[in-house]
Amino acid sequence: MNRSDRTAPPPARRTRGAEARPRVYRYRFYPDEEQAAQLTRTFGACRWVYNQGLVLRTTAWRDHGVRVGFAETCRALTGWRHAAQTSWLRDISSAVLQQSLRHLDAAFSRFFKRTSTHPEPKRKNRSRDSATYVRTGFRWRENPARPGTGLIGLAKQSEPLDVRWSRPLPPGAAPLKLTVTRDRAGRFFLQILVEEHIAPLPPALTPDTAAPRAVGLDLGLAALATLDDGTTAGHPRLLRTHGAKLARLQRELHRKEPGSANRGKARARLARLHAAIADYRRDALDQLTTRLVRENQVLVVEDLAVANLVRSPSGPGRRRKAGLNRSIADAAWSTLLRMLWYKCAWYGRTLVIVDRFFPSTRRCSACHAHGERLDVSVRSWTCAACGAAHDRDVNAARNLRQEGLRLYEQAVAALSPGRQLPAVVRASAPAGVVVAA
Ligand SMILES: [Zn+2]
Repeated sequence: MNRSDRTAPPPARRTRGAEARPRVYRYRFYPDEEQAAQLTRTFGACRWVYNQGLVLRTTAWRDHGVRVGFAETCRALTGWRHAAQTSWLRDISSAVLQQSLRHLDAAFSRFFKRTSTHPEPKRKNRSRDSATYVRTGFRWRENPARPGTGLIGLAKQSEPLDVRWSRPLPPGAAPLKLTVTRDRAGRFFLQILVEEHIAPLPPALTPDTAAPRAVGLDLGLAALATLDDGTTAGHPRLLRTHGAKLARLQRELHRKEPGSANRGKARARLARLHAAIADYRRDALDQLTTRLVRENQVLVVEDLAVANLVRSPSGPGRRRKAGLNRSIADAAWSTLLRMLWYKCAWYGRTLVIVDRFFPSTRRCSACHAHGERLDVSVRSWTCAACGAAHDRDVNAARNLRQEGLRLYEQAVAALSPGRQLPAVVRASAPAGVVVAA
């Protein structure tokens, strides 16, 4: 399939310079005993406040038909802090607890917009430990000798944090918000939100036709992503080797006596493996998405909801492994999409999300005839109409690329003069293009 057989108009010239954009930097840090204990209390208080706010909002609606919003939950928080039986909340920065209510409010907004399910209570050992500090909740002093690094002190803590500055912040950048997390392996991380001036890249055009370069990505389990040129990306080896080890550790955990020391050890081993996989995956996805966004002007993926219904692996231990691989893959796909989304915004690219009803697998990418619905085990097929032989995933990626370019052209054509295309273009069923911010 020739890449230049469909010519889309070149992307509108972007005259804007570097725009200030929110960007998060992540560092590991090592709290001393006192700091770790204080953070453990903070995480617990955030969870408690979140859950209380959830109860308040849910019961007000259920019993009285009253919608309780962020402001009301903040007033309730003041009450809890002054109540005798919950006076321990006074030891935690109120700004941090308010952020917990802010997160609850955001979870409800997602629920009302139907992009998420109803908020669930946070559970110890189940939910990630996290606390967010806004500007009034921390101290920051940049180190003049090493710009982009410095001293960070949290509210209610006397000593600054021991941060490993694996890379500097943009020099002169003032942290706007901090999120402190602890993963299941007990490691502490600091996510620092800054505003950074990121310059868009020059448009990625094909040299001969000046059409935008585009890539279609089919998300799957065998490979994280199959590209329309037939290459695959992702880390099947990671999934295979660690998938098996993960399954083994999980079996071991279930065999241990509940509450025993050995069970605790097995749980810790499992948590460390999860953390290692998460780190490896983040790095791999970071490199992959940066490369794809640099090389292409238009990046096309299918709506995740479809991808979730995918194909299962074969072989022994198939069911359990399928479940594990799927959970790893699910997380990898959503990270991949999120990274593509914000990098497209940073660098002046367009991410096209193709509707879930688009028959990317059944359509022949050569003649556009629709074939039979394919069983998940079918890896390749031949088009009855034109005789083209297809690899299942490559064909899907090619279809996505074609459909994505069509939607991109539509969106560019519908653009009023002087406006620039947003970073994400989403297709809506059955026809038409919705432009998402
Ligand atoms: Zn065909």
